[in-house]
Amino acid sequence: MPWCTDCDRFLSPSSVRDDGTCPHCGRAVEGGELAVRARETRRSAEPDEEPLPPIPWHLKLLAAAIVVYLAWRLVQGVDWLLG
Ligand SMILES: [Zn+2]
Repeated sequence: MPWCTDCDRFLSPSSVRDDGTCPHCGRAVEGGELAVRARETRRSAEPDEEPLPPIPWHLKLLAAAIVVYLAWRLVQGVDWLLG
């Protein structure tokens, strides 16, 4: 946890400036370099967003068939309730 001796307070790693200094007083922070380095590695470790592959046609067909089936079962259910 980065600690600023001048402000006498802990800082969250994300609030430390990129050069490892305090955002309030601008002085170097104890553990600030570590926090910045951890932030950089975490940022570079994040995988790039890959575009999703298109939905396969048979999945769309299956979804359409399910919708038709459930609609038909709903009609049957309403018919059963009324009749
Ligand atoms: Zn400070």
